[in-house]
Amino acid sequence: LKEKLKDMVGKETKSKDGHKVELVGNIGTPSDIDKVLEKDGEGVGLFRSEFLYMDNDSLPTEDKQFEAYKEVAMKLQDKPLVIRTLDVGGDKEIPYLNLPKEMNPFLGYRAIRVGLDRPEILKTQLRAIYRASHYGNIKIMFPMISSIDELREAKSIAKEVRESLKEDNIPFSDKVEIGIMVEIPAVAVHAKAFAKEVDFFSIGTNDLIQYTLAVDRGNQNISNLYNQYHPAILRLIKMTIDGGHEEGIWVGMCGEVAGDKKLVPILLGMGLDEFSMSAGSILGARYIIRNTSKEEIKSHIDRVLNLSTATDVENYIDENILK
Ligand code: PEP
Ligand code: MG
Repeated sequence: LKEKLKDMVGKETKSKDGHKVELVGNIGTPSDIDKVLEKDGEGVGLFRSEFLYMDNDSLPTEDKQFEAYKEVAMKLQDKPLVIRTLDVGGDKEIPYLNLPKEMNPFLGYRAIRVGLDRPEILKTQLRAIYRASHYGNIKIMFPMISSIDELREAKSIAKEVRESLKEDNIPFSDKVEIGIMVEIPAVAVHAKAFAKEVDFFSIGTNDLIQYTLAVDRGNQNISNLYNQYHPAILRLIKMTIDGGHEEGIWVGMCGEVAGDKKLVPILLGMGLDEFSMSAGSILGARYIIRNTSKEEIKSHIDRVLNLSTATDVENYIDENILK
């Protein structure tokens, strides 16, 4: 197996019948990029920016953030780098922000909700990201979007930031795509409307599963209920991909499911354009994709979506797809 994986370095990520997809890595610190490149990742589909805020006892300055984003962008050269704006709250705490203790932190004051409530934090981060865009192929992604109103507000802050950079004569790329995480069921269900207003989607299955099944992703007592094979989850993924494609945008995935060996073929068959995962899963996913015929899997998708239980889904994949 080790040999097989090594053999995948330098190969294209293409299905057996010739359909190309993008295979990229998730990173949480600038140094993580080395591992992604070593495993021949084609870019970064999720740069979690929380580390800048957590390894600090006050808000990181624009310059400090700029240096971190620029470092990664330059290492990637022209490969894509999707930077997600701060996703604080839920399970991720930052003491100096003095966020209120809440009954339901995962349903509370977190991520883009904090960014829109305290726009100076989001503005500083967006300025740093746009400045770094001059040095690489950067894309911006907003976490935990639940409504079009939030999306419009976030985009209007991004526009303000671009205008202020122009005024200050600071260079930035005018090709920076703006996308959202699809991790709240409402967005998956209404995907087409969101797709009209963004350049890309990235499906965050870690949270999407938690919110769809009402299962706290960190609660050991109910972890048996947290199941990526639940047919409702697969349907939401399919709706997101279809909604995005109907509006002509690309759709990726950066939750753990993107590297799930049983689901990679299914995602390929559904038309997912970009798979983003921890570095260690990249070569295995490339092996699966290169040995799977996309058109053949397509003919199974309706049947899979009409199965009743998660176990049925797993069995179906084992018997008919992995063979
Ligand atoms: C997700 O929710 O799937 C995701 C990738 O984001 P995080 O795990 O950082 O919440
Ligand atoms: Mg998430």
